[in-house]
Amino acid sequence: MLKDKITALYCRLSQDDGLEESNSITNQKNIILKYSQDNGFPNPQFYVDDGVSGTTFERDGFKAMMSDIEAGKVGIVITKDLSRLGRDYLKTGEYIEIIFPDYDVRYIAVNDGVDTFKSENDMMVFRNVFNDFYAKDTSKKVKAVFKAKGQSGKPLGKPPYGYRKSETDKNAWEIDEKPAEIVRRIFNMYIGGVSVKSIALTLSNEKIPSPSAYLTGGENTAWNRTSVKGILQRIEYVGHTANFKTRRKSYKNKKKVYAPRSEWLIFENTHPAIVSQHDFDLVQEIMSRNPKAQKCKEINPFSGIVYCADCGKKLHVNRGKSIDKSREYMKCATYTTSKGCSAHFIRTAVLREILLNEINKLLENVRLNEDEFVRAAMENSVSNHNDELKKAKKTLAKSEKRITELDKIISKLYEDNVLGKISDERFATLSKGYENEQEQLKQTVAELTMFVETKEQKSADTSQFLKIVKKYEHIEEITPEIIRELVEKIVVYAPDKSSGHRQQQIDIYYRFNIAVSTAIADNKNYGKKGKAA
Ligand SMILES: [Zn+2]
Repeated sequence: MLKDKITALYCRLSQDDGLEESNSITNQKNIILKYSQDNGFPNPQFYVDDGVSGTTFERDGFKAMMSDIEAGKVGIVITKDLSRLGRDYLKTGEYIEIIFPDYDVRYIAVNDGVDTFKSENDMMVFRNVFNDFYAKDTSKKVKAVFKAKGQSGKPLGKPPYGYRKSETDKNAWEIDEKPAEIVRRIFNMYIGGVSVKSIALTLSNEKIPSPSAYLTGGENTAWNRTSVKGILQRIEYVGHTANFKTRRKSYKNKKKVYAPRSEWLIFENTHPAIVSQHDFDLVQEIMSRNPKAQKCKEINPFSGIVYCADCGKKLHVNRGKSIDKSREYMKCATYTTSKGCSAHFIRTAVLREILLNEINKLLENVRLNEDEFVRAAMENSVSNHNDELKKAKKTLAKSEKRITELDKIISKLYEDNVLGKISDERFATLSKGYENEQEQLKQTVAELTMFVETKEQKSADTSQFLKIVKKYEHIEEITPEIIRELVEKIVVYAPDKSSGHRQQQIDIYYRFNIAVSTAIADNKNYGKKGKAA
């Protein structure tokens, strides 16, 4: 019986509603209570959400009302207007059209003239659409305010592990020496070939408090891969502030997603660095080389940088069951999976020795003819990919311009639609097309930005390379660190037996397109140490 049931009077207020007095909770309560009394509805009961946006239905007051509805206690739901119930067209529609009727609940929006027991609800679809647009619009405005703050270069987030807020200026970060030392150690270990997993294990074993424990003064000393990897990827450690790394999926979905790098706003040298730019870049490069290897205990320094000269695929490291490192070898991935190429078999011990020779030759060359070397290296890296770079930059500029244009077109359309110049249907079709185009362009921009950044960095770094080279006088042994600092990739050719013994060409590409050196592995020289070179 209706007279035993609750008449649910639902009120909601949030910041997106502005400061209009007509929307205040008191005002809403007055209006709907009077309406229910005038109509003689029984057992009025208020459900209130103060400060919760209409784009979500995760509201405490709303949920309390829903559980009473589901328990069959409610006969009527009344709100001041439709947007009090919700600002999401689909979801609001679902409640009004499906869920409420399911529980025999009558819904009334006083000011919008909606009453589900009187069948004519022609206005409703329009109102719902409008409320949905309103939420989209407000979300844009809120974003703009946040954006202005971020664009000023002030950090939007909390300082990461290794930094703390300065006591004199809360927008400034200073180095927190104890954790900063751990950050430096993590970078050094990784560059030295220790995997993310082993770093996490080492720190855990040493009972070093985890970043979150350090922050809260907790006891937890369990480091995991995610936190180590997170540290290795934070550009903040170089002294830069990066804003807008994450964004909300949309005004409907509050979930955070990572924004593409092209949308980050980076402010350089905003605070003291813990890690050098060089070390940071090196770490990013190693990570992009072998993303899968992060889980292993030790990263083989050759994995991810040795390629097959014939099919272009990587050579994979194999050790078989032997623990003997001199037995470790590499072979073409294509050969391993489909026999579509030849093995290009080479022992890593041989690679090591060749690399040692070649790098020492390079070091001597630099020492004896530095000017000559620099000139050659510059020419090499500038001429390389220069055309490609130009083309990419042109496309990038064009795409960015079009994205801005589309923004204008879309907001003009929206205006025309609200003013009634174009129909809802036409608006939906047109805006969808433009939004799709924009989405695609944004992806292109993200990819091109990455490409241009990498290329530019590579050609600008001749002096950086020289600095690294000068660090080593003569090397006695190849370490993972040396490989990572100097070598971009190694290309291995198929063996040639025409001379009567096995000869194999190996090209070493140094980083930043500085130089390429070619060597021949001859089993006359290397054969004694294993069964094959
Ligand atoms: Zn191959």
